[in-house]
Amino acid sequence: MNLLFTHVTAILPERLVEDAWVLCEGGKIVSISTKKPKATSEVQIVDGRGGYLSPGFIDIHVHGGNGADFMDGTSEAVRVACRAHARHGTTTIFPTTTTGSPEQIHAMLDAVKAVQSERRVENGARIAGVHLYGPFFAEDKVGCHSAAGRREPTTVEYCAYFETGVVRIATCAAELPGAVEFYREAKKRRCLITCGHSNASWPEMAAAFKAGMRHVDHFWCAMSNVASVRSRLGVPMRGSMLEFVLGMAEMSTEVIADGCHLAPELLDFAFRLKGSRKLCLVTDANRALDLPPGNYRFGSAEDGSRFESDGRVGWAPGRTSLASSIVGMDHMVRQMKRDTSATLPEVVRMASLTPAELTGIAKQTGSLEAGKNADVVLLNRKLDVRRVFIGGVEMTL
Ligand SMILES: [Zn+2]
Ligand SMILES: [Zn+2]
Repeated sequence: MNLLFTHVTAILPERLVEDAWVLCEGGKIVSISTKKPKATSEVQIVDGRGGYLSPGFIDIHVHGGNGADFMDGTSEAVRVACRAHARHGTTTIFPTTTTGSPEQIHAMLDAVKAVQSERRVENGARIAGVHLYGPFFAEDKVGCHSAAGRREPTTVEYCAYFETGVVRIATCAAELPGAVEFYREAKKRRCLITCGHSNASWPEMAAAFKAGMRHVDHFWCAMSNVASVRSRLGVPMRGSMLEFVLGMAEMSTEVIADGCHLAPELLDFAFRLKGSRKLCLVTDANRALDLPPGNYRFGSAEDGSRFESDGRVGWAPGRTSLASSIVGMDHMVRQMKRDTSATLPEVVRMASLTPAELTGIAKQTGSLEAGKNADVVLLNRKLDVRRVFIGGVEMTL
C-alpha cells in the first residue's frame, strides 16, 4: 500500500519540517516535502492531525514485554515482546540475552531467528539481530541478573552463538579472562562491541578498545567508577569505564531514560558530554512492560532471578536496587525531552538514527529519508504514539 502522510511535522535528524508531505511507496520512503507530491500510483492519505511523524524507534537493549522475556526461548515469547514494543513506537528491535545456561541462550537465539525469518507486521518490531548481553558479566557487577548463569567467556561457547549468524551486538565485561579474544571474534563478525556489567579499569578498557570495543551498556548502571575500581585493585586510584567513555570521542553509550534510573542532571550530562551521535536511548525493558505491579522473573520464566514491579520500574528483592525498566521507548523519548536540553530532533535521533548507525543498519532505517524503509510512527503533540507503520504497513495497536 502506498501512503501519503499529511498535516504532520516531520522529525528529521537535524530539523523539524512543518506541514510536511511524506510519500511512501512499496514499503519505502519516497519523499519528504512541503508541497503535495505527485504519486505515481494510487495512495492512501494518512492525516497526522497536526502531530509529528517520527522515524520508528530502534531499541538495542531490551529484554521483553507484556509478560514475555526473550530468554523464555519460544517463538511465541519473541512475538509477544516484539508486538508490545511496537505499540510503543519501536519498529526495529535487538532482543537481548541475559545470564543463563548455554541451552537457554541457544533456545533464545533459535527462537529469535525463527521469528526474524517469518517477517510480518503482526509480529511487531522488525528483528535486526540479537544483542548477546549475558552471560559474560563480572561477578561483582552481575546486578539483578541470576548469578548462577554468569560465567567467563570461552571460545567454544561464544563461537557457537556467533555461528548462528543472528548476533549483531556483543557484550562482555572487559576485565574477564578471555575478553580480548571475545572482542576480536565479535569484531570479525561485525558486531557492535560493548562492555557492560563490568568493574573494568581504564587500562582494561584501553585493551578492549584496541580489540574493537566501542560502546558501554546502560551508562552509570552496573559499571565501574573510580571508587569501585579502587576497591578491586587498590591504589593509585585509576580511571574507570566512566572516564573512558567520557574521555574517548569514539566511545558511544546508552541511557535508561525512564525517569527512575537516572535523575535529570545525569541524563542531560550524558547528552551534553557525548552528544546525540554517540548516545542512544534504550528501554532495557523487562517482561513487566504493560503488566500490572507484581512479582516477575528476569530472564527465563523457569529459573530467572525474581524482581518486583511497582508499576513504574523494576526492583531487585528488598528494593535496594533497580532491576531495569518497565516502560517503552515512547516514554524514554518524552522523558528525555522533558529532562534535558536536547531538541526534539536530537532526542529522536538518539532513539532511531544513532542506534541504526552504531549497528550498521542506517542505510535501511533510522530516519525519514528517501530510500529508507517506511518504518514510521505518528505521534501527537504530547509525543504519545498514535499509529505505527512498519515497511509501510500499519500495525494494529
Ligand atoms: Zn544490565
Ligand atoms: Zn539489560
